Order: sequence, then C-alpha cells, then structure tokens
Amino acid sequence: MATHSIVLGNPVPKSPASSVHPRVGEQWLGYFAPKTKPMHLKLSSGHRARAALGADPKAVEIPRQWYNLIADLQVKPPPPLHPKTLKPVKPEDLAPLFPDELIKQEMSNDKFIDIPDEVLDVYRLWRPTPLIRAKRLEKLLDTPARIYYKYEGVSPAGSHKPNTAVPQVWYNAQQGIKNVVTETGAGQWGSSLAFACSLFGLGCEVWQVRASYDQKPYRRLMMQTWGAKVHPSPSSLTEAGRKILNMDPSSPGSLGIAISEAVEVAAMNADTKYCLGSVLNHVLLHQTVIGEECLKQMEAIGETPDVIIGCTGGGSNFAGLSFPFIREKLNGKINPIIRAVEPTACPSLTKGVYAYDYGDTAGMTPLMKMHTLGHDFIPDPIHAGGLRYHGMAPLISHVYELGFMEALSIPQTECFQGAIQFARSEGLIPAPEPTHAIAATIREALCCRETGESKVILTAMCGHGHFDLPAYEKYLQGNMVDLSFSEEKKQASLANIPHVPA
Ligand SMILES: *Cc1c(COP(=O)(O)O)cnc(C)c1O
Repeated sequence: MATHSIVLGNPVPKSPASSVHPRVGEQWLGYFAPKTKPMHLKLSSGHRARAALGADPKAVEIPRQWYNLIADLQVKPPPPLHPKTLKPVKPEDLAPLFPDELIKQEMSNDKFIDIPDEVLDVYRLWRPTPLIRAKRLEKLLDTPARIYYKYEGVSPAGSHKPNTAVPQVWYNAQQGIKNVVTETGAGQWGSSLAFACSLFGLGCEVWQVRASYDQKPYRRLMMQTWGAKVHPSPSSLTEAGRKILNMDPSSPGSLGIAISEAVEVAAMNADTKYCLGSVLNHVLLHQTVIGEECLKQMEAIGETPDVIIGCTGGGSNFAGLSFPFIREKLNGKINPIIRAVEPTACPSLTKGVYAYDYGDTAGMTPLMKMHTLGHDFIPDPIHAGGLRYHGMAPLISHVYELGFMEALSIPQTECFQGAIQFARSEGLIPAPEPTHAIAATIREALCCRETGESKVILTAMCGHGHFDLPAYEKYLQGNMVDLSFSEEKKQASLANIPHVPA
C-alpha cells in the first residue's frame, strides 16, 4: 500500500486521489523512491499507511491540557523583578496589563493546565497540525536520516502564534475586557491577535513598527481584514510616541517603541489589556499544544526523535515543540538532543549574557533574568522576522543554563539556501524564522550522510513565508549578504543593562 508523507494531521477528506486508488500513490512513491534499497520499511506497513492517509482511527486528538515545564524542574527559574523595587513581581503589579487567569498561569507551578472548551473549539479549525516526513528533502540530501517536520503554517494567520493569541483573547473576554492592544514588527503576531479578537468580539489595536507598516502592507491588511485598528509606531496617540516624534518626525520606529505605546494605552484604560506574543511563561505554556500533539503523533508511527531542532526568537515555538519532549527526557523515557537555532546577527543564547534585563527597549517592563544582548541592542537589518529580539524567554534561558538543551547560530545566507532546498523538495515556502531550523536540520542530515547514522530528526516548521517574499527576492537576486556580528556593539549595549545586586 502506498505511503504518503503527511503522516498525521487533519483527516484528509476522502477523495479518489488520496484514499481510494492506491495506484496513484504507488506511482507517486515510485517516482520519488530512493535508488538505493528503501531504509524505512516500517513506514510502508499497513498500519502506518492507514495513519499516513489520515483515516487511521488512531489519528491523534488535540491535547486537552497545556504542559508547564516549571512543575518538573527541581531548580525553579529566578522570578521577574519590579524595575523600581527590585523585589519579585507580585500578581497585582501585572494586573493593569493582563487578566487574572493569565497572571495565574504566568506564575503557576501546576504541571498541566486545562485548555478551555471554547479554545479547543477554535483550535479545531486547524489542529491537529500535520507532522510530515520530509522524504523528498531526505532524498535530495542523500541522507540516511529520517526528517520530520511539525507544520504550524496551516493556522489562519500562517504560524504558531494563534495557539496563544486565541486563549489570551478568550481569557480577556471572560474577564469582561473590551479591547486588547499589542505591538508588532513584521506583523505575524499582530495578525494572529487580530484573528483571535475577531472570533470573540474584542476590539484590537496594533502598533506596527513604522518601517514595516510602510514596506509590508499585506500583514497590515490581514489585521484590518480581521477588524483590527493598526497604527504606525511611533504614533501621535501616545505620550511615548509623541516624545519620539518630537525628536524625530520621520522615525522608522522599533519594537521597543511600539511596546511602550501599547503598554501605555493598556495601563491607562480600565477596559483594555496588553498581549505579548512570545517570551512570557504563559505564552510558552500555550504553545506546548504543539509538542503534546507531536509526541502522540510520533508515538503513533513508532518513531522516537534523536534530535529536536527549532528556531528561537523569543522562544515560544521552540518551547512549544520541545518542552513536552524534555518532560519525557527527564522521565528517562527518551533521550533526544534538543537544539535551538538563532541568527548569527542576533545570538542571544550563544553570545548574550545571562542577566536581569528589560524586556523592551524603553525599559518599562519588569526585569527578567534571561540571555540578553542588552535591551538597546539593535541587530543588523537581517531577514529573520521574529528572531531579531535582544533577549530569550527567561524559561528557555533557565533550561539552557540547566544543560537540558544546546544552541547554535547560523548566518542568513545559509538559512535561505536551506529554505530554497526545502521549498524545491517539500513544496512549502518557510517563513524566514524557521529557515534557521531547516538549515540546522540540513547540517545534521549531512552529518548523518557522513557517519551513516539513520537518526530521526524532528524540526519545527513554525510558519509559511507567503508574506515574506521580499526576503526571498533579495536572496534569489544574489543581494543577500552575511554581516559579521559586532562584539563592540554588543559590549556597548551590555554596558546599559541594569545593575541588580545578587
Ligand atoms: C514570531 C515568530 C517566531 C519567533 O518567535 P518565537 O517566540 O521564538 O517562536 C518564529 N517563527 C515565526 C513563524 C513567527 O511568526
């Protein structure tokens, strides 16, 4: 019987091509079959083939709980500190910005947290997301490795971000909040939040960094289509924005300025709260729906990952995929290497310091202990979308310090070279962020070719790149270059991180 590279996911609708005429599949497989002896006979067994067609009754269900890794850590992560008192932040300090339930989750030590039914109902629009065997990429690389990717680009916004946007908006709605505000750079997070607000009837206002507001109109139009109000940042609507505009009327803006504007609006309006798309514990928590689902999918096909690879900006998609596997690793059930990949131009894990720093450029947020390049570090204008953040999620930073994972950085031309190989073998065009994970996956697969090991590599394909084609244009025209990381620039910004007595 034929195999199909979509291993598990939303059941494929019964169509002649997918389920009735196996011959179609056979021809397809024949076309791509390796010249050498097939190495993965188990994949074409009847059981697996049924799973492959999505008709298997064992097709996994959407997880009903999120997983909180903190519960399983013997050494707990250091708490966030109030920027004025340097005392651990109390729930009431966060109340102007977040609804109570999310503050509870942010500070929770519970191992599992139930996903509300209404949230599950929305997840069903695109979950479970497919786990796909990259057979054609394997063939292209001539590797004995088996490569799987968990694809989150099937969500309405095209990335993993709706996994947290939906519960964040739902908890706000439960508390009677009428509006949420946020910042966005390239627009992935803003569009995810706009989508979630459209479902639950909340107003949504997004401060989008001026440069991307002007240059990348399509994410803005997605937000507007879902009913959000989008302001270029800096704007004249806030004190923070006016201050910047007074100094520089043509300021291109920055994520830090946009955060300051959104936070200011949330703090001043009782019916308005603020939402963040990465970094915080509750965001990482919501994203574990990816890894819980993937654990079950791997189990259903009888595979165990040897290496798990994901890109890290603030760390949410990486944590989402890897934390449930880290739990199994701590339980002694599996022993995969967990590997984070970041851009060489913004290497917070591999070149940053582990210290208390602000989450935003303006220095308005609580101090978080994390791997940071300094809150006023501004990376080169590389095409890495959400990976251009100066810090790493405190929880990932802590896990990294504990030695449960490793990290490396990859320059952008290698990432796009990998993305092109991926697009031309697997078909999907990755967002700029997961090109880092793909490039690292290709490195590992090529190592396997050298050593002859048939490792199982699992990678996070966290979004598609349909709105990021200008980056591809630049690469395809041969105009993309690797800039060397400036140690001086890093030292200068590290000199400005706050001094916190131990
Ligand atoms: C926002 C974004 C990222 C970076 O954020 P993380 O929290 O590190 O996941 C990565 N990939 C995509 C597709 C994104 O939209």
